[in-house]
Amino acid sequence: MPHPTDDIIRAMQSPTSEDQKEIQKAYEVAKVAHGTELRRSGEPYITHPHAIALTLAKLGMDRDTIIAGILHDTLEDTQLTAEEIEKQFDATVRFLVEGVTKLSKLKYRGLERHVESLRRLFVATASDVRVIIIKLADRLHNMETIEFVDPVKRNRIALETQEVYVPIAERLGIGVIKSRLEDLAFKILEPEQYKEMTRFLTERGENEKEALDKALNDLKKALAEAGMRNFHTEARIKNAHSFAAKLARKGNDPDKVYDMFAIRLIVPSVSDCYRALGIIHNIWRPLPGRMKDYIANPKPNGYRSLHTTIITPHKVIIEIQIRSEEMQEESKFGIAAHFIYKNQKKAKETGAAAWAKRMIPSLMKVSRKNDGDEVVSGAPGPQWLKELHLVAEHFEEDEAFREALKEDFFAERMFVFTPKGDVIDLPVGATPVDFAYAVHSDIGNSMVAAKANGKIIPLDHPLHNGNIVEILRKKNAKPNKKWLEFVKTSGAKHHIRAATKQK
Ligand code: MN
Repeated sequence: MPHPTDDIIRAMQSPTSEDQKEIQKAYEVAKVAHGTELRRSGEPYITHPHAIALTLAKLGMDRDTIIAGILHDTLEDTQLTAEEIEKQFDATVRFLVEGVTKLSKLKYRGLERHVESLRRLFVATASDVRVIIIKLADRLHNMETIEFVDPVKRNRIALETQEVYVPIAERLGIGVIKSRLEDLAFKILEPEQYKEMTRFLTERGENEKEALDKALNDLKKALAEAGMRNFHTEARIKNAHSFAAKLARKGNDPDKVYDMFAIRLIVPSVSDCYRALGIIHNIWRPLPGRMKDYIANPKPNGYRSLHTTIITPHKVIIEIQIRSEEMQEESKFGIAAHFIYKNQKKAKETGAAAWAKRMIPSLMKVSRKNDGDEVVSGAPGPQWLKELHLVAEHFEEDEAFREALKEDFFAERMFVFTPKGDVIDLPVGATPVDFAYAVHSDIGNSMVAAKANGKIIPLDHPLHNGNIVEILRKKNAKPNKKWLEFVKTSGAKHHIRAATKQK
């Protein structure tokens, strides 16, 4: 009997009949729970969780994650309870759904200085990387259907996507989602530029299609003649957003953007990559200085490939990216690729562990500028994955890998909120006075009392992660020297000293 989840099952790596049964059950549970609820598009609500589960299956995620994707909005929007989810499925599914629900409560208020702490908060709250991957799939579908949202809200969602979700997808190396989200946000935030870039890329693509096809054929022939087997190729066009960013860096001269179009060559092994590079340089002239070995020196987010730019006898310039199957999976799925390998043969597992070891320390230095290909970076360096480096030396099994991603090194920091929902990042043990000075020195200097979650608390009372803190002020109030005895941040100390000296 056909079932609405058949496409999800087909997209999975190697589904068992048990997987199929459980996923069908999750779909029925979610469908009943959402009832007659509709999406803004007018479609039944279940189309949304269905789309998310399909994305997760395509990413190669495990059954629990797919089921949690189907149920991800039930706690927030329906009568279904966490206990019921655990009873019907298991504790993992419950944990994942609760994690996604928690993340949905975080709001972005567009304050530049808080963006990085919001990203960190996001990761800390998720506590399991699968929660973030579900949330990314959720955001992807919401962005794909954003035309039904009113314009003001649409802009806020697009901005949040660009500032928070794109960098997270990038840092996790999930290229397929990062690239889609980036263009969907670009389309909303810069509609004119988006249109212009898309038009330009489409026109160029049509003009150069013949040359690209010819190059592709010549390449295949040369590789086959050299005895290479089991390779495949794909053509890729830069997405509108990366093209716009690169164009700006190249003085708006599109002829200087050599990687507008690229050929990807996917071969079985690493040594095949270098062999293929030799063959390519033998048939076409490489442009000097354009050969990049990201296998020996991976990009900060773990990306590996060989890049070279060649010029054909007809004066067409094409970038060629050479990579192994494994590198191809990694570049598309990033951290999610780990779950794909896990489901495959034992031999692959060693490869996955090795990859994860490479991946995690490399996540530390994302802020470094790269050549701009596919990755447009500029965010401040992520402190938030720093300590994982230490853990990476030790872990081998999946369990340990997930433990490593639990982010318990956040023990040193906490996140509290202003009444408007802005995130303030403070050391553990910080007080309302630290909070007030972290928001603004004027607020610290005129404070008389504080509330946490609506209740008055003493000024020396330690705040807790997730508190909503409100500062009560009086016009002629002055800071008290005694505050120096309990404040934790140097910023607060500095301002209190300065203000009490003036007197
Ligand atoms: Mn949702």
